[in-house]
Amino acid sequence: MKKAYTAIVGNEALRERLMHDVLEGTLPHAVILEGPRGSGRHTVARLTAAALLCHCANDPALPLPCMTCPGCRKVLEGKSPDVIPLGCDGKATIGVESVRFLREDVHVIPNDSDHKIYIIEDADRMTPQAQNALLLTLEEPPVYARFFLLCENAGILLETIRSRAPILRTERLPREQVDCYLCEHDRRAAQMKLADPKGYEELLTAAGNGIGQALEYLDPKVFQPVRQLRALASDFVFTAIKHPSSKTILPLLSRFSTKRDLLRDQLSAVSDALRDLILLKKSDEAPLSFYADRTEAIELCDGASLPTLYQLNEAVRSAIDENARNANVRLCLIKLLVSAELI
Ligand SMILES: [Zn+2]
Repeated sequence: MKKAYTAIVGNEALRERLMHDVLEGTLPHAVILEGPRGSGRHTVARLTAAALLCHCANDPALPLPCMTCPGCRKVLEGKSPDVIPLGCDGKATIGVESVRFLREDVHVIPNDSDHKIYIIEDADRMTPQAQNALLLTLEEPPVYARFFLLCENAGILLETIRSRAPILRTERLPREQVDCYLCEHDRRAAQMKLADPKGYEELLTAAGNGIGQALEYLDPKVFQPVRQLRALASDFVFTAIKHPSSKTILPLLSRFSTKRDLLRDQLSAVSDALRDLILLKKSDEAPLSFYADRTEAIELCDGASLPTLYQLNEAVRSAIDENARNANVRLCLIKLLVSAELI
């Protein structure tokens, strides 16, 4: 029996199943890949797309996808004209206009293969109108079309969408396994772990313990802006909890961006940090998604009451919503500080 490609770790059983479906020609037209950030949803979707377009799918001596033929290479390098990613493009949601593009594009036959594959990232951020528009395509797709809907929570999708696509779950690998894999496969990981152990821990945390994301972050040009954003979020939460006064908090405002997209990411990072602290109030063992250093997070958490953390997080979430509704960027931040009683 032909084996699924094994050099990539994680979600083995799920990948075996999808490869089997590809070989048997039983892959559903649409599949929902549900799992937390860093759990390999993109990897699974890409590998299945590569399997569909692999030129060596019928060679029993090679794994599926073979990873080396021109069909596989194009998909894995993101250059296949027949694999089309669709996402938020910096917006808070995927609107109906993005799905309209898909609905027209899907009727154009594939470029250089027998399949046309749409990978919808953050499918749970599609507006209900966008989902309804997509539904029309999912009901009667062209025979060559395949759809992967990636999401953290399939429960947010309309029932009508969920009833047309099986929900398959991706699982995160334990941190030790991710660490091992990175150090074995990429020299930069082992080097960074040695030279900057704190930075390496931060990289793993920022990547949500996901191998794909962590590999991208090993490029300092990619990781540097992420680190800056995390430092700002960390400083903001620290100041808001330890030294909440106009004198200390107002100077931080100038570090927040006036660009709407970047501000959204910065505020989301602040909210992630606060969510960690709220979870820590319930248990010291709570899984953390923002803080790489648990001791530091626990100490910070001890400095604030649960209602204070909720109030802060609520103010940040409101600012994110207002920012998405095109409110004045600076005004959003001032309102945040007022409603969190920081000034
Ligand atoms: Zn191939």
